Amino acid sequence: MRFFNDPKEILEQTTLVDRFVSYVQIDTTSNEKSEACPSTEEQWVLARKLVEELQALGLEGAAVDDNCYVTGSLPASHTDATTVVGLIAHLDTSPAAPGKNVRPVFHEKYDGSTVVLKDGVTIAPDDNPTLLECIGDTLITSDGTTLLGADDKAGVAEIMTVLSYYKDHPQLAHPAIKVGFTPDEEIGRGSDKFPIDTFGADVAFTLDGTHPGEINIETFNADSAFVTFTGVSTHPGTAKGKLVNAMRYLATFIDRLPAEVSPECTEDREGFIHPVDLDGTASKCRCHLILRDFDEDKLAALGKTVAAIARDIETEEPRVKVQVEIKRSYPNMYQFLKEKPEILEKLQEAVRQTGLKPQLVPIRGGTDGANLTRKGLPCPNIFTGGMNYHGPTEWISTRAMGLSVCTVLNLMTLYAK
Ligand SMILES: [Zn+2]
Repeated sequence: MRFFNDPKEILEQTTLVDRFVSYVQIDTTSNEKSEACPSTEEQWVLARKLVEELQALGLEGAAVDDNCYVTGSLPASHTDATTVVGLIAHLDTSPAAPGKNVRPVFHEKYDGSTVVLKDGVTIAPDDNPTLLECIGDTLITSDGTTLLGADDKAGVAEIMTVLSYYKDHPQLAHPAIKVGFTPDEEIGRGSDKFPIDTFGADVAFTLDGTHPGEINIETFNADSAFVTFTGVSTHPGTAKGKLVNAMRYLATFIDRLPAEVSPECTEDREGFIHPVDLDGTASKCRCHLILRDFDEDKLAALGKTVAAIARDIETEEPRVKVQVEIKRSYPNMYQFLKEKPEILEKLQEAVRQTGLKPQLVPIRGGTDGANLTRKGLPCPNIFTGGMNYHGPTEWISTRAMGLSVCTVLNLMTLYAK
C-alpha cells in the first residue's frame, strides 16, 4: 500500500500549479441577483474546459449537464473494494470581490515578511500567522486588485491532479471515483441541482477547506426567519391617530434583537441572529434574518426569541400585524455523519498518513456538503491550502496544495483497501 507525504513529489511530477493558474484566470464570479442556473454565463467556460480535461484523463461519461454541473467517472483499479467515492469542488468564485482579470503573482522562497500587492494591499504575518508556517514555500496571490480564486479553484486543481496522477501511475490501487464540479456554491445554490441520483457515489468529499490538516464534518444548522409587519396606511395629511407605520415597528423589532447574539459578537460554537435584508413601505415591510447554531435545540430557541420579540410588539400595538415565518436553509451535517464513523476514521487516517495532525474544525457557515449529506450523500470537507477567501488578500502555498493532493491520494488508498 502506497501513502503520500511529500508535497514536493506531487509538485514535481504533476501540473498542479499550472492547472490552478489556468483555472483562476477564467472569471467565474457567481451572481446572487440572477435567478438563472448557472447564475453567470462565464461559469460555462470553466465547466467546458474541465470536461475536455476529464476526457483527456480518460474519465468515463465526462460531461456538463444543462445546469452547468460537471461530472465524470474513473473506474476502480486493482481493488475489490466496492465503495464508490465522490470528489467535489465548486467552479464559481465569490461575488464579494472582483474575479475578472485575476493575475496570479508568485512569491518564491517566501521569507516571512509582509507580502505587498498593488493598491496598498498587504498580507502580514501578524494577521496571518499561517504565513510563518510557509517560510521557504512558493506563495501565490492575486496582484491585489482581485480575489485569487483559490476558493475553490485550488480544490478543482487538486481533484484534477489526483486523476492525472492515477493516469500516470496505473499500478496504484484506487476505488471507483466520481467527480463533481458545481456552479453557484458561493451564492448558496451549489447543491440545489446537483445530480445526486445519477452521481452514484456512496460517500463524497468536498475539497473546499483551508488550512493544511483541517477537516470539517460540522456546519451550522441554518434557518431563515422572515418577519413581516403590516401597519395601517392613510393619507399622511389626515393621519393623526389613524396611521400605523409598519417601518417604525420593524425598526423597534431590530433594535430589540439581542446584540450579544450577533455574528459580530460571537465565535467558535456560539450561534447568532443576523438581520440581513429589509424591504417594504410604511404600510408593509419585511425583514429577512438568518439564524445559526451548531445545536438544533439552540437554533430552535433563536427562532423562539425572534417570534417572542415580534409578539411583544404586536401586543403593545394591536393595530400592527406581525407575521413570523421560519424556513430551514441547511442542517449541521454532523448529525448524519456521526452515524457513519468509518468515514471520519478514514479521513483522519489519510491526513495522518500525509504527516499532518487532523484538526476537526466546525464551519461557521455551510458547504455544498451539508445539503448533500442531508440528501443522503455523506460529504465531509477537506482542506485545499487556500487562505483569506473572498478578498484581495487571498493566498495559497503550493506546498499546501501538494499536501491536499497527498491527503486525497491517501484517502483513495484507504478506500481501495
Ligand atoms: Zn468555497
